[in-house]
Amino acid sequence: MTEQALSSRVAELTRQINEYNHQYYVLDQPSVPDAEYDRLMRELIDIENKHPELKALDSPSQKVGGEVLTAFTQVTHQLPMLSLDNVFSGEEWQAFVKRLHDRLGSNDTLAMCAEPKLDGLAVSLRYENGVLVQAATRGDGSTGENITENIRTIKSIPLRLNGDKYPGILEVRGEVFMPKASFETLNAQAIKKGEKTFVNPRNAAAGSLRQLDSKITAKRNLAFYAYGIGYVGETAENILGEAWLEGSHYQRLEQLKTLGLPMCPEVRLLASEDECEAFYQDILNRRDELSYEIDGTVLKVDDIALQEQLGFVARAPRWATAYKFPAQEELTVLEDVEFQV
Ligand code: NAD
Repeated sequence: MTEQALSSRVAELTRQINEYNHQYYVLDQPSVPDAEYDRLMRELIDIENKHPELKALDSPSQKVGGEVLTAFTQVTHQLPMLSLDNVFSGEEWQAFVKRLHDRLGSNDTLAMCAEPKLDGLAVSLRYENGVLVQAATRGDGSTGENITENIRTIKSIPLRLNGDKYPGILEVRGEVFMPKASFETLNAQAIKKGEKTFVNPRNAAAGSLRQLDSKITAKRNLAFYAYGIGYVGETAENILGEAWLEGSHYQRLEQLKTLGLPMCPEVRLLASEDECEAFYQDILNRRDELSYEIDGTVLKVDDIALQEQLGFVARAPRWATAYKFPAQEELTVLEDVEFQV
């Protein structure tokens, strides 16, 4: 392709991806399956990697999520909420591991925290002196929507942390999702009433969480699993601050569990990166038995010092990747489905 043809392909991909982002993140109404979106994004990233001069500062490959809905007040995240990079095959996973070793300058075995990739939406929960004071969506990564009242209706999210050993300020990051059973009930009710059905549990969770009336959210049976920590700090009343942060990523998740925050029961601490492939296969085989929808696994370097050494790129950490499952949905299937927020 000539430079000019490549440049117009980049412009076309950018336009399409931005439009799909708006439909998915802002309207909660995707018009194409994720696999199609992922294919376009990959094509854009491939061109940008081979022709860095074509990579615009505001390229969708550099951004997290979409715009925030103005119907909600905005929350500025004290620490950004990032996305994840993806791998789609064993070869790509091996290439990711090689990059980790190259960046660390060592072939030492890496302990990995292996987690299902929950198909819902990311939220940040802020606890001050043990009390839930604010909850926000990821939004564009730096600014999210204030959805505190809606989050308060989710039964598995504690309004007050257990015990008294927690930092003054603790931001918990995790996924709000709709269990498969709740999704099926919701759609069955919609069909009975002659209303539109939701296309998938992720879409239903996003639409339910971004309701202006929290009474509607309360009826939707949403659930939550914690998978990380955001900002941690002190307050005058509770000065534990960062001293509370101990151990590896997995140990931190265990600490969150003792405070009453739910953690996905499938999360495993693996002794080496070589065990990740078996974890991926096992979860893939059992995917249909799980009571919630997942679209892959998330594999994270467990050692926090190594995470810090590896750092971040524009939209994702370098120390983690989503290892995604093969696509289940086809474009032709989605075309017949009606969507609703
Ligand atoms: P992502 O879903 O690929 O990965 C990041 C997200 O994974 C996090 O924000 C978090 O919400 C979630 N996650 C789930 N389990 C996790 C765990 N254990 N640890 C950490 N994070 C976990 O990224 P994204 O930026 O939210 O969305 C991109 C994806 O969304 C695309 O790859 C595509 O599949 C889909 N998408 C589809 C369309 C469409 O039109 N169909 C449009 C935009 C995005």
